[in-house]
Amino acid sequence: MTSHTRDGAVPWPPEDAARYRAKGYWEDKPLGAYILEAADRFPERTALVDGDARISYRELADRMDAAAGRLLDLGLRQDDRILVQLPNCWQFTVLTLACFRAGIVPVMALPAHRQFELSYLAELSESRAIAVRDTIKDFSHQDLAKHIAAGTPAMSHVLVSGRVDQGNVDLDALLAPGGDPINARKQFDAAAPAGDDTACFLLSGGTTGLPKLITRTHNDYAYNIKATSAVTNVTADTVYLGTLPVSHNFPLACPGILGVLFAGGRVVMLPSPEPGKAFAAIEREGVTLCTAVPAVVQRWLEYRQETDRQETDRQETDQLETLEVLQVGGSRLADEIARKVKPVLGATLQQVFGMAEGLINMTRLDDPEDVVCTTQGRPVSEADEIRIVDESGTDLPDGVAGAILTRGPYTPRGYYRADEHNARAFTPDGWYGSGDIVERRPDGNLVVQGRDKDMINRGGEKISAEEIESLVYRLDAVTLAAAVSMPDALLGEKLCLFVTLKPGTALTLSDVQESLRRTGVAAFKIPEKLVVVDEIPTTKVGKINKKQLREEVARMLQASGNTG
Ligand code: AMP
Repeated sequence: MTSHTRDGAVPWPPEDAARYRAKGYWEDKPLGAYILEAADRFPERTALVDGDARISYRELADRMDAAAGRLLDLGLRQDDRILVQLPNCWQFTVLTLACFRAGIVPVMALPAHRQFELSYLAELSESRAIAVRDTIKDFSHQDLAKHIAAGTPAMSHVLVSGRVDQGNVDLDALLAPGGDPINARKQFDAAAPAGDDTACFLLSGGTTGLPKLITRTHNDYAYNIKATSAVTNVTADTVYLGTLPVSHNFPLACPGILGVLFAGGRVVMLPSPEPGKAFAAIEREGVTLCTAVPAVVQRWLEYRQETDRQETDRQETDQLETLEVLQVGGSRLADEIARKVKPVLGATLQQVFGMAEGLINMTRLDDPEDVVCTTQGRPVSEADEIRIVDESGTDLPDGVAGAILTRGPYTPRGYYRADEHNARAFTPDGWYGSGDIVERRPDGNLVVQGRDKDMINRGGEKISAEEIESLVYRLDAVTLAAAVSMPDALLGEKLCLFVTLKPGTALTLSDVQESLRRTGVAAFKIPEKLVVVDEIPTTKVGKINKKQLREEVARMLQASGNTG
């Protein structure tokens, strides 16, 4: 028996929950119901596109209810968890919606995760199934999934899209349309999850060790989606392309694929942000809204400028003609890059500063250029509460940078089964501290100035320094380890590892990389530079002085002519 997710979740205090309901933020309507409303309004319209696969709203509704039924046939029940590790493909979306309908909770793992992360997530969430693509870039996720299942007592099913080994479940068949959509719909309408039931588990960026699970309820996630959809002006005419892994909150629900499907728009699934492919998809589908991290935007700008140069004499149609809005977030977008977006790509830039833990800030589509290009916007909801505080927790005036604290109708009050961590990440009265250092301008817009958390933000993918350090300590030679960020022109930051070694031992970067690979960690977390030192500097209170190390590696890169 697995435990109920409610037992590990931290609910909003009843008075806040009552207020959110009274204000209409929480509608006590399960996420699947919003999709069905769209399907009723626009049955013939295309909901999902993935390569040659095109799925109408009618078919989407049919598939999701049929799949929900097949999940129950496998023996899964409401509140059971499925570890989902799929790339951007139609199967991800249909499976997620089927879970919402059946009240089964998808755990949103990243395609980059490996044994180390997946086994931990499977165990913490007590997942009863895992869903994967057979292989991605020659890596057998099917083999990995079998391995995870063998090591996870609660897990009894491996669902595979593609070539399915014996004993595993054919995910594509599980997601096929059913024969009786009307009755399937009745069945799941009657057994719909409650508004405050867990809808999905998102993963935290993680500052202490492995990622935490973030419990998002149907109520709070629906509101997240509705509030961001309103700010981004999503309608039935929106055609959306998410270029980030869709298990991230940003392309999933801000407004992302779910927001666009709520509205009756069209979602285009593309597994890679590579500019040639993305631009072709934008042109082919008439994409109007797109989500990217700064590193991707930079590649797009370069690609566009390059192709423009090559095509000056030719009368080419503009591939990006339909693109109205480009949302950028996940890490800080440099102001000078921001200023190029409209002139070079032709789309309105929307900066997004948010977190899977809840709070989403966005610039508005009609904001003046100064706001769009130099700030990360303001909360999407009038009910988002924000404080900027100093180290003692005292509120700071506008214009002074400090740590951001937040509460609101879509910012849960704690991580799943993480009491100790919650005591640090949340104040006793429920404010979440993301660890970002932010300045609030008098006009209410936020500017992210830095962060006070031990994390490396590698092109939007977050790496917990502590997680890597604890793995590096498994190497015999290492006496002290410190993972810090180093500047990188494209990704913003990469991971650099400082170590001290036992006398008479040696260690190379490839030793470290090989060891981490063997542990089975996601490739994006593997250090890209190693600095062996005699001593690692500490602060007055005896903590490793990471600020000094960051400065040191930045200096080293500059001296070697490698400015990142
Ligand atoms: P995640 O939950 O993975 O989306 O990570 C959330 C964290 O990403 C935030 O707490 C910030 O540290 C960082 N982040 C997200 N968007 C931005 C942005 N626009 N500018 C700077 N940092 C950002």
